[in-house]
Amino acid sequence: MINVLFSARPEAWDKYRKPLLDTFAAERVEVNLATQMDPETVDWIIYAPNSGLEDFSPFTRLQGVQNLWAGVEKIVGNPTLKVPLARMVDPGMTEGMIEWVTGHVLRNHLGMDVDIKRTDAEWQPHIAPLARDRPVAMLGLGALGSACAQALSVLNFDVHGWSRSAKQIDGITCHHGDSGLSEVLSVAQIVVMLLPSTPATENLLNADRLAMLPRGAMIVNPGRGPLIDDEALIAALDSGQIGHATLDVFRIEPLPQEHPFWAHPNVTVTPHIASETRVASAAVLAARNIARASRGEQMHNTVDYAQGY
Ligand code: NDP
Repeated sequence: MINVLFSARPEAWDKYRKPLLDTFAAERVEVNLATQMDPETVDWIIYAPNSGLEDFSPFTRLQGVQNLWAGVEKIVGNPTLKVPLARMVDPGMTEGMIEWVTGHVLRNHLGMDVDIKRTDAEWQPHIAPLARDRPVAMLGLGALGSACAQALSVLNFDVHGWSRSAKQIDGITCHHGDSGLSEVLSVAQIVVMLLPSTPATENLLNADRLAMLPRGAMIVNPGRGPLIDDEALIAALDSGQIGHATLDVFRIEPLPQEHPFWAHPNVTVTPHIASETRVASAAVLAARNIARASRGEQMHNTVDYAQGY
C-alpha cells in the first residue's frame, strides 16, 4: 500500500480522484489517495504549485513529487524539496498547445487582422506569402516546442528550432547554443517561445536580440513572461522593429490593468490559456508514473534541478 497525497486546489480533486484511482487499480497498485494525510506517512505527492503547500520538510518519507503543470519554476528552487520531481508531459496539453500555436502563427502569417478589423468598404487585397517562404523560429524544442514545430512544418512553414542541446528533428532546421540563437533570430519573421523560465532564459529576448530580427517580425509567447524584457519589447513595437506580439504569459498574472501591453495596438494579450493540463490524459500519466516509481523504476520526465527545468 502506498500513500499518495493529492495537493491541488479543492476543485481539482473532484475531477482527478476517479481517473487516478482507476489508473492505480489498472496498474495493480494498492493506494491510499487523499487530500489530507499525516505528512510523515506520505510516500508520493501529486502537486499543483497553487495548492498552498510550500514546505516539504515534514514529509520525511517522501519519495517523489508528480507536478500537474508543465512549468516547474514555482517549485524547482524550493530548498525543502529534496526528492525527484516529475513535470507534466501530457498529450492533451500538447494537442492544445499545437492548436493555439498554429492558430496564432497562421493569424500573423495571413495578416487576418486586416480583414477582421476592417470597418470601411475599401476593396484592398493583401496576399500573404506561402508558408514555405515564411521563416518561423521555435525557441525551445522540448515536449511542446518540438510538437508545435512539427505541426508548423506540416503546414509547410520554414521552421528553425533552437534548444540548449543539439537536436535532429525531421523537417526542422535545428540550432543550439548562443551562436545558434543569433542564426535563428536573423531569419525569423515569426518567433514562437516555448522555453521554461529559468535563470538562463530570463530576458532572453532583450533589446539586442529583438534588434537581430528582420524588421516587422512577430512574436508569439506562450512560454513564460520573464523570457522577454517587457520594456525592450514595447520600445521595439513602438519603433516598428517588431510588428506584433501575441502574449499569453506575463511576469505578473493577471497582467495588471495599468500595464502598457493592454492598450498597445500591436499587442494581443491572452490570459494564460494557451494550453492546460487535461484531466483525462494527465491523471493516467500521473498515476502511471507513480506506479512505475513504486516498483523501483525511475519516474519519467524528472526535472534536472541544476538546469531548473
Ligand atoms: P521541456 O522541458 O520539454 O522543453 C524545454 C525546451 O527548452 C527544451 O528544448 C530545452 O532544451 C529548451 N531550453 C531550456 N533552457 C534553455 C536554454 N537556456 N537555452 C536554450 N534552450 C533551452 O518543456 P515543455 O516543452 O514541456 O514546456 C515548455 C514551457 O512551456 C514550460 O516550461 C512552460 O513554461 C510553458 N507552458 C505554457 C503553457 C501555457 O498555457 N501558456 C502550458 C504549458 C507549458 P533541451 O532540449 O536542450 O533541454
